[in-house]
Amino acid sequence: MNRDQVSYEVLSDEAGRPIKSWTVGVPFEDEAKKQLRNVRGLPFIHKWVAVMPDVHRGYGATVGSVVPTVGAVVPAAVGVDIGCGMIAVRTTLRADQLPDSLRGVRSAIERAVPHGRSDNGGRNDVGAWRVAPASHQQAWARLVEGYDRIVGKHPRIGRGPELAHLGTLGTGNHFIELCLDESDGVWLMLHSGSRGVGNRIGSYFIELAKEDMRRWYINLPDADLAYLPEGTEHFDDYVFAVSWAQDFAATNREMMLKGAVEALQLSGELPPFELSDSAVNCHHNYVAREHHFGKNCFVTRKGAVRAREGDLGIIPGSMGARSYIVRGKGNADSFHSCSHGAGRVMSREAAKRRFTLEDHEKATAGIECRKDVDVIDETPAAYKSIDAVMAAQADLVEVVHTLKQVVCVKG
Ligand code: 5GP
Ligand code: MN
Ligand code: MN
Repeated sequence: MNRDQVSYEVLSDEAGRPIKSWTVGVPFEDEAKKQLRNVRGLPFIHKWVAVMPDVHRGYGATVGSVVPTVGAVVPAAVGVDIGCGMIAVRTTLRADQLPDSLRGVRSAIERAVPHGRSDNGGRNDVGAWRVAPASHQQAWARLVEGYDRIVGKHPRIGRGPELAHLGTLGTGNHFIELCLDESDGVWLMLHSGSRGVGNRIGSYFIELAKEDMRRWYINLPDADLAYLPEGTEHFDDYVFAVSWAQDFAATNREMMLKGAVEALQLSGELPPFELSDSAVNCHHNYVAREHHFGKNCFVTRKGAVRAREGDLGIIPGSMGARSYIVRGKGNADSFHSCSHGAGRVMSREAAKRRFTLEDHEKATAGIECRKDVDVIDETPAAYKSIDAVMAAQADLVEVVHTLKQVVCVKG
C-alpha cells in the first residue's frame, strides 16, 4: 500500500473525537466496538483512539487498542498483564544444521526455562535469578529495591512469592519458539511479561482507581475504566509501579532468552552457535510518556506495539502460523503503533467447544509442540488470520523477517 493512502476506517466520530480503526478485512466484534466507544468518551483522551487489526474484547479496555491520554491514566487500560511482550533474536544457525527430530531441542528449552503450572517438577515458579550470573543478580537487586519502595507505600499489594517469578515464562498464551526465517536463518522467540507480581500491582491500582472514583462521585459508563488523575499521589505511585513492572517484564524476557540460548548451546542437540544480532525486545501491554500532535501525553498500548519510524517490533501469529519481525513506518495517526499479534477470534471456551484434538494436530502438523486437549484454546484457528492482520496494517509497518516456528514450548 502507498504510504500516503489512508487505510483506517473511522468507526464513529462524536464531538470531534473519532475512533480510527485499522481493521479493513479483519473480524471486529460489536462488544469490542462498544468498549472502544466507552474509552473514547473519557474526557482526557488526546485526539482519538487508534484500533489495531488484532482488536478483540478485553477487560475494561479492548486488546489491540492505543489510548493516548493527557492528565490521567486508566490502570485497566494497561491491564494486569503489565509489560507483557516479545523478545526475539537471530542465531548463526541455519535450517540444515537442525537435527531431524526436534524433541531434544524442545526438552532442552523446557528444562531451561521454568514454565506452566505444576507439570514441571515444581520448578515452574522459581526463576533464573537464583542460579544466575552477576548480571542477573544485579537486575534482581534493582528490582527488589523498587518493589520495596512500592510495597512500603502500598502494603496492601502484599509480599507474595511472585517476586521470585523473575525468569519464569508463565502459562497459557506464553511461549518460546525456535523459528526459521525466509532465508533459513534460525531464531529464538519468546512471549512473557511481569508474571504474578505485575498482576498484583495491576489489580491493586485498578481497585484503588475505582475507590477514588467512588470517593469523588465520578460515574463512568464502565466502572472498569476508573482513572487516576495527574497531580494526585495515586497517579504518581501508579506511574512508578507500572514502569517498575515493565522493567521486571523486559528483564524477565532477557533472562529467559539468555537461559534458553545457553541451555541449547550446552545441550549437545545443536552444533555450536552464537547470536548474530542483538535481540528485539518489545512490550505490547504498557503505558509510556510520549509526544504526539504537539503534546506530551501518556500512551497506553494494550495489545499494541510501538512503531515509530525505524522501530523494530515483533508480531507473532499463532502456534501454527507465521510471525513477523517488523519495522515501524512512524504513522502519526496510529500514534506510531502496530498490532501485537493476530488477536483472538473467539474466546478460550468457544475454542475448546469448537475444535477437536484432531483439528489441532492437523493445524500444528510438523511442529514440535504440545498436542493435548489442554492446549486447544490456543489452537491456531482460535486466532485471526495473520495474513489479513498484516494486510490491514501495511501503512503502519513493513516486514523485515517472516518467521515460522519448528518448535513451540507453551506454558
Ligand atoms: P497475547 O499477548 O494477547 O496473549 O498474545 C499475543 C499474540 O500472540 C496473539 O494475538 C497471537 O496472535 C499470538 N500467539 C499466541 N500463541 C502463539 C504461539 O504459540 N506462537 C506464536 N508464534 N504466536 C502466538
Ligand atoms: Mn502476557
Ligand atoms: Mn502478551
